[in-house]
Amino acid sequence: MALASLRSRLILLVTFVLVAGFVATNLVSFKVSRDAKRDSVLQTELPLTGDNIYSEIQIDLVRPVFVASLMANDTFLHDWVRDGEASAAPIVRYLDAIRRRYDSFTAFFISEATRRYYHFSGVPQVVSEDDPEDVWYFRARGMAQPYEINIDPNQAQDNRLTIFINYRVIDEDGAFLGITGVGLELDAVAKLVERYRSQFRRTVYFVNRSGLVTIHPDPEKAYNLRLAEIEGMADAAAEILAQERGAFEIERAHGSVLLTTRYIPELDWKLVVEADEADVLRDLDTGFASNLAIGLTAIILTVIAVILAVNRYQRRLEEMATTDPLTGLANRQLFDAHLDQAVRRGRRSGRPVSLVLFDLDRFKQLNDRHGHLAGDAVLRRVADVAREAVRTVDTVCRWGGEEFAILMEDCPAPKAGAAAEKIRRALESSDLLQDLSGSETDRAPVTASFGVAALSADDLGGGDAPTGPAIERLLSAADRSLYRAKAAGRNRVEAA
Ligand code: GH3
Ligand code: MG
Ligand code: MG
Repeated sequence: MALASLRSRLILLVTFVLVAGFVATNLVSFKVSRDAKRDSVLQTELPLTGDNIYSEIQIDLVRPVFVASLMANDTFLHDWVRDGEASAAPIVRYLDAIRRRYDSFTAFFISEATRRYYHFSGVPQVVSEDDPEDVWYFRARGMAQPYEINIDPNQAQDNRLTIFINYRVIDEDGAFLGITGVGLELDAVAKLVERYRSQFRRTVYFVNRSGLVTIHPDPEKAYNLRLAEIEGMADAAAEILAQERGAFEIERAHGSVLLTTRYIPELDWKLVVEADEADVLRDLDTGFASNLAIGLTAIILTVIAVILAVNRYQRRLEEMATTDPLTGLANRQLFDAHLDQAVRRGRRSGRPVSLVLFDLDRFKQLNDRHGHLAGDAVLRRVADVAREAVRTVDTVCRWGGEEFAILMEDCPAPKAGAAAEKIRRALESSDLLQDLSGSETDRAPVTASFGVAALSADDLGGGDAPTGPAIERLLSAADRSLYRAKAAGRNRVEAA
């Protein structure tokens, strides 16, 4: 019982150490990889995405800016203005040709001298400082740089970007002649945003200087939502608008979101690139789960192996602690325990308990003549004979040296005497020695003397009284009988 609980505690401990160690190392390495992955997404991957998007926008803007620059430096335009803008027809034809040639939706020229707004479809209008729609002209007129890119939010539909390139026209003498340029739809940006969403599961959107969302994968949100109103952005919004570049981790209802931002100077907008942390870490998570499954399976197999090994060793230990190694019979320790139980059971059942003690005759001589090894072999054979002669419920014990004891429960003295007689006769009539040596010379049989004693129901004592005294009486009675058998000439059975 003590051994069994020791065993289960040992197995529990081994299991605990294995599981705890394994889970701990896995968790630590999982956490390290998660942090590393999160860092690399925030420091490298998302900023690179931002840079890519920026380059694509720049490439798309190169052509219209180039066209506007060509127009601003066109000597035809300069000459026509210098000639007093006599007829609108040539400039209208010119603007229409530009529009068709470069696939823009408009091409225009505003003359500084006449404030006339010429465009491809004819009839010029006049710009006025008092008209809010014309404010842009008076701003562009005074700007330091040669051109500006003006985004028209009013025409923002389906995330298509409507932009105007406003280019200052300066003649050879450095005089300011007006503003020319093209207006076109830049649907490339909308396509970019959609592509990053569908292919890479990245949410890309733009915010203008005042924090208004201008382009969003969900077109409904464009020009309807402020950055701070986007879920989880309340705290980060101000910082995002203030910085050239930024990296943030924000919380949303569905989980953490990693995001980086960068400034797009051409548009004067901030670009935001978002990735769900769950998406980023998904591979790591499945890797961790399969590692865990493999490891736990290995642990289960290990624990099963440990249980099997421990059980085997425990059986071996118990066997070693309770059996005599030479004969395989019960040893004194086990026999004492059986005696104790037998007395207790006898008390309950009221049935007698018998004991047979026997000792091989002149065994010293046998050893001396045939050697110790032959003596050992004889002891083993005697043990077999005794075991075969009694019931399986009886306990045969090697009492010590060449002495044996047999405990017989529920067995009165005469029946025990009969069993002893059976063994005595089996030994006497067997050719143990001859069988062992194979020689015909020594035909003397191996014999033994037997002492039998029994405890009747009355002798067993009652209740919970200690079993020691009854056992003492039984043993000494059997011992006295054995002594009598020896004294009376050996090879006989004596009963108390
Ligand atoms: P008796 O008839 O009076 O019993 O004579 P005996 O020679 O058997 O008596 P004694 O007790 O003097 O001798 C017992 C011998 O048994 C002594 C010892 O050498 C031998 N013996 C005890 N244990 C073993 C054993 O494990 N193997 C062998 N081979 N001999 C043993
Ligand atoms: Mg002897
Ligand atoms: Mg002896």
